[in-house]
Amino acid sequence: MSNKKNQIVIVGGGAAGIALARWLGGRFGRRHNIILVDRNRTHVWKPLLHEIATGALDANLDEVSYQSHGHRWGYRFFFGAMEDIDRQAREVIIAPLLDEDGTELIARQAISYDYLVLATGSVTNDFGTPGVQEHCLFLDDRMQADRFRNRLLNHCLRVSRAMNGDIPADRYVRIAIVGGGATGVELAAELYNSASALHDYGLEVFDESRLEVTLIEAGPRILPALPERLARAARCELQELGVRVLTGTPVVEATHDAIVTGSGERIGCDLKVWAAGVKGAEFLDHIGGLECNRASQLVVRPTLQTTRDDRIFAIGDSSSCLLPGNQRPVPPRAQVAHQMAKTAYRNLGRMMAGKELMPFIYRDHGSLVSLSRFSTVGSLMGNLIGGRMAVEGRLARFIYLSLYRMHLIAIHGWLKGAALILLGHVNRITRPRIKLH
Ligand SMILES: Cc1cc2nc3c(=O)[nH]c(=O)nc-3n(C[C@H](O)[C@H](O)[C@H](O)COP(=O)(O)OP(=O)(O)OC[C@H]3O[C@@H](n4cnc5c(N)ncnc54)[C@H](O)[C@@H]3O)c2cc1C
Repeated sequence: MSNKKNQIVIVGGGAAGIALARWLGGRFGRRHNIILVDRNRTHVWKPLLHEIATGALDANLDEVSYQSHGHRWGYRFFFGAMEDIDRQAREVIIAPLLDEDGTELIARQAISYDYLVLATGSVTNDFGTPGVQEHCLFLDDRMQADRFRNRLLNHCLRVSRAMNGDIPADRYVRIAIVGGGATGVELAAELYNSASALHDYGLEVFDESRLEVTLIEAGPRILPALPERLARAARCELQELGVRVLTGTPVVEATHDAIVTGSGERIGCDLKVWAAGVKGAEFLDHIGGLECNRASQLVVRPTLQTTRDDRIFAIGDSSSCLLPGNQRPVPPRAQVAHQMAKTAYRNLGRMMAGKELMPFIYRDHGSLVSLSRFSTVGSLMGNLIGGRMAVEGRLARFIYLSLYRMHLIAIHGWLKGAALILLGHVNRITRPRIKLH
């Protein structure tokens, strides 16, 4: 192995990036410079966003400071948003840092790299539907989840005051969720959990019956990634909670107070959440002249190197990886992001040692969908057992929760990961069931 000190820059500290930074820092942090760049100061595991949005989880308790995590694991954290890559100079360009009023605090900067890993995740795809950007909420990051929760709490308060006769107002909180995939379904169920908790915490006249939730899916059924029987079970559970589930219903427009469907129905609502698929962020289109697909994801080879630059890797939701023998790229999921981070970690080590790179092998451990405390459904082990095993109920719930626990262990190690899991249990006993502010 050469003695040259390399600088490895990872952009994006999400499910993939923070795990990679930890592994690289732990193994190479003394010999090479490992730098993690993120536009946020703290990491929140994205699959928790719907729970943060409904208040079921307090993100302040679960977020991880990149600065202190980097100090512990041997990498440096750089706060900033990547806006471009100069491949000739081997530099990542970081956008100027602006104050709240637009004053420039730090000018545009460049970070040089020997190897670069892009892990900037995805954003919700609005498929160009009119009015969606202006009128819908998204669950792409913590800020958006917090915004949803604040608006939800305000509407619940409005209904509560109206029912007490304090103000003349509509007595329902009407919420439309567009997209019947895991995010939409999990959010719909979680809303009912929050509504019942609000009832217990002081809004005595408010409860689940004050919610009018409509889940709208363009395809023939919800949860297309799960076997049909489980999707049907999830649909029944949602309907029992009170959710109106519409399938085969494309949305053609969002207005300030309604969602308009292809058949012309106007579904009036106070809150509109768009969760109908993801794509890479638009700034990835043509970044550094790298190859991007139509969904703004960077096209990578099985080694996870981008097609036009051996020194640049892309992993997680921001990449598009078509493995030999498959017709579709691997899906944008947390387990894929985690597995890609592992392959990138190994391949960077091999590259610095002058060894041949290994192809990414995706092991589909299945999918699980949590309907809050009401139910959990899923199918397990996909290609491990050559088929799918349906799971429901407590076992499914346990495995669903294990995914986050495994993420905690991946980024903190066994000891601290286990301590945090224990702390999570204590918090569940000592803190309110939902975040009330
Ligand atoms: C509500 C919800 C529930 C989900 N549930 C599940 C589930 O149950 N199971 C599952 O497998 N998957 C689930 N997913 C999908 C899963 O969260 C993603 O597939 C996974 O987080 C992708 O990881 P990533 O590292 O590619 O991106 P992310 O985790 O999104 O991380 C991207 C990081 O890049 C940073 N970033 C972005 N742009 C820039 C920039 N220009 N400069 C610097 N930093 C930047 C962001 O701040 C972020 O930290 C869910 C997603 C959502 C929204």
